[in-house]
Amino acid sequence: MKSALFSLRLRMLTPGGVTAPEALDAPQNTVELRRDHNNNVHLPGSTVAGSLREHCSHYTELHQTGDLPELFGPAPEPNERRAASPVGVLGTLLRVEKETSTAKRTSIDRKRGAAANTELHHTELLAAGTEFDVVLRWEHPDERLDTFLRALREWRPSIGRGASHGAGKCQVVGLGHRVYDLDNSKDLLDWIGLTSPEDYPTAEPCTSEAPDDRLIDVELRIEDGLHIGAGEPETDSESGKLISQALRRDEDEFLVPGTSLKGVLRSRVEYICRVVGAAACTGGDCGRCRPCRIFGFSGKEAHTRRARIAVHDSTVTDHVAERRQHVAIDRFTGGARPKLLYTDEVVTAGRFRLRIDELEPLDEPEPAGVSNSAATPENRTGTNRLLLEAALTDIHDGLVGIGGRTTAGCGTVSVSDPDWQRPAGMTELAERLREEHV
Ligand SMILES: [Zn+2]
Repeated sequence: MKSALFSLRLRMLTPGGVTAPEALDAPQNTVELRRDHNNNVHLPGSTVAGSLREHCSHYTELHQTGDLPELFGPAPEPNERRAASPVGVLGTLLRVEKETSTAKRTSIDRKRGAAANTELHHTELLAAGTEFDVVLRWEHPDERLDTFLRALREWRPSIGRGASHGAGKCQVVGLGHRVYDLDNSKDLLDWIGLTSPEDYPTAEPCTSEAPDDRLIDVELRIEDGLHIGAGEPETDSESGKLISQALRRDEDEFLVPGTSLKGVLRSRVEYICRVVGAAACTGGDCGRCRPCRIFGFSGKEAHTRRARIAVHDSTVTDHVAERRQHVAIDRFTGGARPKLLYTDEVVTAGRFRLRIDELEPLDEPEPAGVSNSAATPENRTGTNRLLLEAALTDIHDGLVGIGGRTTAGCGTVSVSDPDWQRPAGMTELAERLREEHV
């Protein structure tokens, strides 16, 4: 009988971590990281196992190779205990722990692509560069071992909360394994001697073989002003005016949340689909139209799916910020209401990046009932990618703005990357979108 142990070292490329929602600290409104009984930050093995199973499933499809998902046992049915699977996650070990930080997050109003005012909270995060080991055991390893090791090297999980805005993105930086033949007395002794995590195979440094999952990564320049509010306007103690502060990562860094950018992209993608006569639902919850399949949806009866793409948070570099006043317009008379003078904090110059990663292949098979005779995996990926490029081009052309106050001289940005080019094949895009009948 044989048994194999694996140590896989992961490094966080972006801040992230698994939070404990039950530990919401009410006065600070902070969602803290999950911790064990020694108060050390803890990444639950179950979270990691789910992500690894998903990765192995995609890996099998992509490479048409031995059946790896089966290593994790049959997919669990809701409300059913999982049967023991050949491969199990023994645990996770934090190796290099950097300072944790907190990030201010707001819920984003999908329709406006702007912050929903009342839902401000803080999230505690592990810093980028944090490393941890995932220890796996495989009972009765077989001829799939090499395939499994290759799959592990290509794993690029997003751990914990906020994967859709690029949080917790990890890369494999080390891998070690040992197969113990328990019929061999030396191996058996070593196996029995495994008493602490330090006895597990050492994760030798390795380079990640994960394919680049970047779909779009461009720099955008603020043309007029960017206003992404940090919550309810506050009354200034001196002037008595209402001030809407801009969202910050910390004191002197302005944050452009991935959720805001994603909201803008989604509404533009929906618009493009409708204009060419392709399906795009209005509630973002049908689960069948192309925008729902790219950006995810939350429908009725736990009918929910996360986005296939992650749109990263970004900070503004070389920023210039100023305060701009405006008056509230009376909705009924159309006239100004002189007593309601608002001040917005606006970032009037600066640059930030729009980075979109593929979280799951964009070319998943169509859901049942959707037919697209002309679609092959290549051109379907092409269509979705092209659609995102088209939305970006519309942002660049000033057809759609980012953040709040877009009707009052804010939100225009342009692509400032010299290498960026307008996407080719836009004329076919409409045709390709229409070919699909939902
Ligand atoms: Zn839909």
